[in-house]
Amino acid sequence: MTVSDQRVPTLDLQRFCRDADQIYTEIKLFYNGSYGPTFPWIKLGQTRLRLSRKDHDHGGWLLAAYLGHHSDDEHDSAFVLQLPIIGVNFIGIEYGQTILTGYIDPNLRPDQDFRVPPADYDPLAGAPECEYCAEHREEDGVQQHLIVPYLPPANPDLYRLVRGLPVYIATGVVDP
Ligand SMILES: [Zn+2]
Repeated sequence: MTVSDQRVPTLDLQRFCRDADQIYTEIKLFYNGSYGPTFPWIKLGQTRLRLSRKDHDHGGWLLAAYLGHHSDDEHDSAFVLQLPIIGVNFIGIEYGQTILTGYIDPNLRPDQDFRVPPADYDPLAGAPECEYCAEHREEDGVQQHLIVPYLPPANPDLYRLVRGLPVYIATGVVDP
């Protein structure tokens, strides 16, 4: 498979991410389906990478980025991105940057599991304020926030373009 940079849009989601002023995460796609030159793909702030629960025995991982400190209507922390990855390989740490490689899981349900939004996704547009937390903001531990979707919509069209491709992931501290 080959990445076409005309067809795979770059995606800068840093403005939606938690702690993007302090932590960056960069995801690149390798051209030609093998390690070599890369195509800068997604920019994020703070991310987490965990073994995914349902794939625990199969080495599946889930790269996720929180959507600021907003939550859904049940007060579950919301995400601006969830990208399932397999074959995670630790490359190293240099100058405060941690570098990994992996592959976009080729065995996802396209209409459910691949939660990388389109370039024009704006989960904050029209998002209502949580009235409960606005009323209780003087209490300990209560922060005002918006009510947003728990996840971005599935993106089967983009998944078809990047399914199974090798990815480069780097995360570290933003330079002051
Ligand atoms: Zn609330």
